[in-house]
Amino acid sequence: MRSFRHISARTTEEACELLAEYKGKAVLNAGGTDLLLSLKGENLFDYPELIIDIKTIPNLDYIREDKNTLSIGALTKLSNISDHPLINKRYLMLGEAARSVATPQIRNVATIGGNLCQDVRCWYYRYPGHIGGPIRCMRKGNGPCPAVAGDNRYHAIMGGKKCFAVCPSDIATALAALDSRILVTGIKGARKIALKDFFNPLGKTLSPDEMVVGLETKKTSATARQKFLKFTLRKPVDFAIVSVATVVYLEKNICTDAHIALGAVAPGPVRAIKAEEFLKGKVINSENISTAANEALSMARPLSRNAYKLEIAKALVKRSLSGD
Ligand SMILES: Cc1cc2nc3c(=O)[nH]c(=O)nc-3n(C[C@H](O)[C@H](O)[C@H](O)COP(=O)(O)OP(=O)(O)OC[C@H]3O[C@@H](n4cnc5c(N)ncnc54)[C@H](O)[C@@H]3O)c2cc1C
Ligand code: SF4
Repeated sequence: MRSFRHISARTTEEACELLAEYKGKAVLNAGGTDLLLSLKGENLFDYPELIIDIKTIPNLDYIREDKNTLSIGALTKLSNISDHPLINKRYLMLGEAARSVATPQIRNVATIGGNLCQDVRCWYYRYPGHIGGPIRCMRKGNGPCPAVAGDNRYHAIMGGKKCFAVCPSDIATALAALDSRILVTGIKGARKIALKDFFNPLGKTLSPDEMVVGLETKKTSATARQKFLKFTLRKPVDFAIVSVATVVYLEKNICTDAHIALGAVAPGPVRAIKAEEFLKGKVINSENISTAANEALSMARPLSRNAYKLEIAKALVKRSLSGD
């Protein structure tokens, strides 16, 4: 690890001013569970000059609900989300997603803001500096993407443009199905970004001086059927090969609305709009569920080694819609 300056920010304003002052040479540190690995691995060409600790900023660790909205602060730990009675009563699928992340030790430290902003896990991108890396690539801004002609078994099957690394955040998949908005602040003020617009093929839609301060999601109906499912290679601790989050609103087994989000298949979570539209007004039976699963993956364009993800994704969509 190389040396760097370290400042503990007291306010979001101070953190954003430092980000602006260092012009891309400063990074935020929340739980540090992702950032410190990247710094130790020296997998990026640019090394930060300043680390801004944001854990010292008060009032960013909360889970609360008012009449219409659930709000969560950016510094809320994943363990607090997975254990919170309100989440486990009304936002079950978000609790399931939080519990599926890493290990209890990591969840006790990792924050929801850091989970959304964590860097991609592409093995070319993360190839360590001390054993022959870093490797040049499109996301690092200095070369073509080696995954296109290389080993792309864990990469995107849809939505990739220039970079085919998938969004590794399980929380993002759940929040996509909940239609969440990300609360952001920067030196020009605050704004809200719909989760679907938060990720782009080469990163996030944050300006260099902006940080995430929280998120909000519309209160879900107590009767909505929710599910988060994740397929991994290792059972206890692993990133998703594919994840699926669904919220289905039913009246007498007729679907009045459906939200289906696919994770780890694209640079950001993907809403399966065609499948959602197909299900509206239909009975939730095995035939309609099968058609919806096919519709959900109709936009997929796998790379040379990852077509297997399609069948896994379809199976997860079917299982989550059936309430298995
Ligand atoms: C062994 C292991 C297994 C894992 N398994 C999973 C898994 O199954 N599913 C999954 O989803 N994740 C998994 N992760 C990733 C883990 O969830 C993230 O490392 C963690 O959530 C990051 O949170 P943090 O607070 O530690 O972020 P940090 O490491 O502090 O930050 C991560 C990145 O986000 C930026 N950042 C942090 N907070 C903010 C903010 N408020 N605004 C803007 N930028 C910010 C930082 O600058 C940094 O670039 C795993 C990690 C490990 C080490
Ligand atoms: S998929 Fe993206 S991160 Fe991975 S090598 Fe290609 S450009 Fe880089």
